[in-house]
Amino acid sequence: MSWQSGSQTSLREANRGAILEAVKRFGGLTQVELVGATGLSPATVSTIVKELTGSGLVEVQPTSRSGRRAQLVTLARRVGLAAGIQVGPRTMRVALADFTSEVCAEQVLPLPFEHRMDTTLDRAALLVVDMLEREGSSLAELVGVGVGLPAPVDVDTGMISVRGIMRGWDDEHIAHVMTKRLEKPVYVDNDANLGALAEATLGAGRGVRDLLYVSYSHSVGAGVVIGGRLHRGFAGTAGEIGHVQVDPMGAICRCGSRGCLETVVRSDALLATLQASHGSLSLRDVLRRAQLGDPGCSRVIADAGEAIGSVLAGACQTLNPQLVIVGGEMAEAGETLLDPMRRELRRSMLPNVIAPVEVVTGDLGARAEIMGAVATVLQHTDVTETGGER
Ligand SMILES: [Zn+2]
Repeated sequence: MSWQSGSQTSLREANRGAILEAVKRFGGLTQVELVGATGLSPATVSTIVKELTGSGLVEVQPTSRSGRRAQLVTLARRVGLAAGIQVGPRTMRVALADFTSEVCAEQVLPLPFEHRMDTTLDRAALLVVDMLEREGSSLAELVGVGVGLPAPVDVDTGMISVRGIMRGWDDEHIAHVMTKRLEKPVYVDNDANLGALAEATLGAGRGVRDLLYVSYSHSVGAGVVIGGRLHRGFAGTAGEIGHVQVDPMGAICRCGSRGCLETVVRSDALLATLQASHGSLSLRDVLRRAQLGDPGCSRVIADAGEAIGSVLAGACQTLNPQLVIVGGEMAEAGETLLDPMRRELRRSMLPNVIAPVEVVTGDLGARAEIMGAVATVLQHTDVTETGGER
């Protein structure tokens, strides 16, 4: 009989693993949703959830789904905390979240123009420690750090895979440097990939297997999700739509190429176009004025939408996603940006009558990338080894 009990034990372990994995991936699921996500029977799900609650790995709380009462299963808070760091051209956002993907602290810091890796990571590490203390927690409770960068990243080495995009960060083992500062596992990824991960698991793309996430703030990039998984490509440059050439005679791009989409749609290009007619504006001014109906401000946003749409059409034709989710600060422009994007997609793609690609704004807004940075830590962490029994 020993072989039988042995195989039953390993089956139970596998089922436990499947449930923990699903809860971790989606931040929280009801028992009915867990049945759907794992393919296990309702009775098995119920038994394992009770066991996991007993050992302190998950928590169950009442919630409602489509008007019905349900039990929401999340990972337990005491499993630990994850830190997310999103580095932008001029700001850095740092967040702490628990294993329910609930952000418990968040802070934004301004960064100097062309900031350098060592000083920025020093500030980030100090801020993480400071925020942990303010939360009444300590470094011991931190399980890992996710870092999002506005550049293509080779996740295996934690290095930027194209030189010149972030000066002062080239040829540096970013994950390694940050690991030394905090002595925790560090996962570095492209910010659009992290936004895609967050929208796919917690936001507008929940339940969608194939999607593109367009991150458009000061510059533009995309994250690709295929079959429910992030697709980074061979060395991390998948989805770099900002560096597709749209004008062979255009301006030289910071990547060294000419007339990249980014040179046409990046925020300083939009602001420069408005300089003669509107004077010096910030990106926020442009978004606000467009909302109030300023035709010039609306026009530059619409033209940017059209340019992005023409590049997206190629990506959509190749990958056939169900959904395009637009995030980042520029997504606040809503239909002013999305409508020309849709028009361009319709004009340039095979007319798929069964399921034309849908274009929507994200659910997580400007927080998608930082939520993704946190989510990537949670996905890499084996919760059964982080001391749920503590
Ligand atoms: Zn470029």
